[in-house]
Formats: sequence, C-alpha cells, structure tokens
Amino acid sequence: MHLPLKIHSIREENPTFRTYVFKHDLRAKPGQFVMVWLPGVDEVPMSVGWQNENELWIGISKVGDCTTAIFDQIKVGDRLGIRGPFGKGFEIKKGTKKIILVGGGFGTPPLLFLAKEARSKKIETTVILGARSKQQILYEKEFKKLGCEVLVSTDDGSQGHRGFCTEILEKSITRGKTDCVYTCGPEKMMKKVAEIAYDFGINSQVSLERHMKCGFGICGQCCIDGKGLRVCKDGPVFDSKDVLKFEEFGKYSRTASGKRVEFK
Ligand SMILES: Cc1cc2nc3c(=O)[nH]c(=O)nc-3n(C[C@H](O)[C@H](O)[C@H](O)COP(=O)(O)OP(=O)(O)OC[C@H]3O[C@@H](n4cnc5c(N)ncnc54)[C@H](O)[C@@H]3O)c2cc1C
Repeated sequence: MHLPLKIHSIREENPTFRTYVFKHDLRAKPGQFVMVWLPGVDEVPMSVGWQNENELWIGISKVGDCTTAIFDQIKVGDRLGIRGPFGKGFEIKKGTKKIILVGGGFGTPPLLFLAKEARSKKIETTVILGARSKQQILYEKEFKKLGCEVLVSTDDGSQGHRGFCTEILEKSITRGKTDCVYTCGPEKMMKKVAEIAYDFGINSQVSLERHMKCGFGICGQCCIDGKGLRVCKDGPVFDSKDVLKFEEFGKYSRTASGKRVEFK
C-alpha cells in the first residue's frame, strides 16, 4: 500500500538533481529504499537519503520518463505515493572505529544517511565524492556538518582531485586502519572500489542498482544471474566478497523486459 506523502519542501541541488523533503518517519535504515509512485506515469526505486523522527529526504536525479515527470509536475504541497522502506541496508559492525564512504554521482544519498548514523556512533568517517564536475558534487555541506572529512574528485578538475575517486581511495586507505569501505554509484566505479578494498584486506559493502518492479522479492525482476539473489530483498546492499563473485557485477544489468545492457 502506498502512503500518499505530502512534499514539505524541494531543494534544487543542481539543474538535474533535487532533494524532496517529507515530514514523515518511515523508520528506514541507511541503505534501504522506497518505491516512489507518480500515478499515471510509473513507480521507481529511490534510496532514503535522510531519516529522522520527523523528516524523510529523497534525492532524485532527472534521468528518464518518471523522474522528468516528477521534476515537471510535482510541486511543494503535492503528494507522491511511497511504499517501503524495503531491502537490506548497510551494516556497521560492532567495534567499528573508522570507515570510508565512496559516492559517485546520484549514488550519494544513501551514504549521507549512513554518515549520519556513523557519526552518531562517533565513528571517524571519510567521504570521497566523485562527479563529472563541481556542480554535480552532492551534499558536501551536509557531510561536513556531520563532522566527516570530505575529499572530492571531478573528471574535469573543477573541484578537488582531477580524475577518479578511486584514486583518492587508494591514498586514503593507507592513512591508518580502516574498518570498512561503503560505496554507492556507477557500477564500474563500485567494482573498482570493492577490488581496492579487497586488495588491502578491508571489508566493503556495495549498494547495487537493478531494474525493480515489486520492490519486495516477489516478481524476480531484479534477480542476479546465476545466483538467484534478489537485489530488492537480499540487497540492495551486499558484502563485496559476495558481489565480486557475481558474474554480472560491473559488466551488465537488465532492462524491464530482461534485455541485457552492458555498463559503459
Ligand atoms: C535500490 C535503488 C535505489 C535508487 N536510489 C536512487 C536515488 O536515491 N536517487 C536517484 O535519482 N535514483 C535512484 N535509483 C535509480 C532510479 O530508480 C532510476 O534512475 C529511475 O528508475 C529512473 O526512472 P525514469 O523513469 O526516470 O528513467 P527511465 O526512463 O526508466 O530511464 C532513463 C535512462 O536511465 C537509465 N536507467 C533507468 N533506471 C536505471 C537503473 N536502475 N540503473 C541504470 N540506469 C538506469 C535507462 O537505461 C535510461 O537510459 C535507485 C535505484 C535502485 C534500484
């Protein structure tokens, strides 16, 4: 069943990314997601970007039909249908002292929520944000407000390190003991992050994105080839020692009709 949640405010983070704020407590955990329904258009999975007792944030990137319709049609005071929260989120193991979060593009929202939880447990948190250019770097101010160290990389060098965020990860990981690396973003980036962490003997968790329909494990749309694991139910967050064995990880995903699409 959908909750018809009223939009309290909308923040434009850049021309193609907005944060939709609801006054509602879904009791979500970092890494979990909701299905967002725009009647007559579509229903799409979105991560919970922030949650406290009276506020829920969903950060939406304008990429296709449904997200463009949300950008064009939905104003403050309107309602969106929300189902969830669903899925298995990030896990912070007992005794964790230092973590690194690596976010690429619109993969950043669930990491903001994770950083909030980590900082509430006084865990030292380094956040590495990668984007095409300075304008696409998301939530830098919010991460800093939580007391995280923030390192930035951009493809065009308009902010921070010019190049890939994985290059910063390699340097950061060697600056003292890291307990876990968490990542969400383009899959090729996450694969590199998981491989770097593995090479350094550090555990990592990745948040996978696959086409989803039901969102809670019935339809089988988001099954991982050869494994039968459902990303919506068994994930979206997986331990990288498992994910690195998925044949499709970093290589391809499937469309709504099951057609295989290679990652560029
Ligand atoms: C668990 C989960 C959490 C997510 N969290 C967020 C979030 O917090 N914020 C956010 O903006 N998006 C998030 N997404 C992605 C989001 O669901 C899709 O971008 C959205 O479904 C696009 O819908 P659309 O109708 O606008 O685009 P469509 O018209 O369906 O597609 C437009 C273009 O985007 C591509 N595309 C669509 N969906 C995906 C996908 N899942 N992976 C790769 N490419 C895709 C299509 O191939 C096409 O090229 C998440 C996805 C999952 C599975």
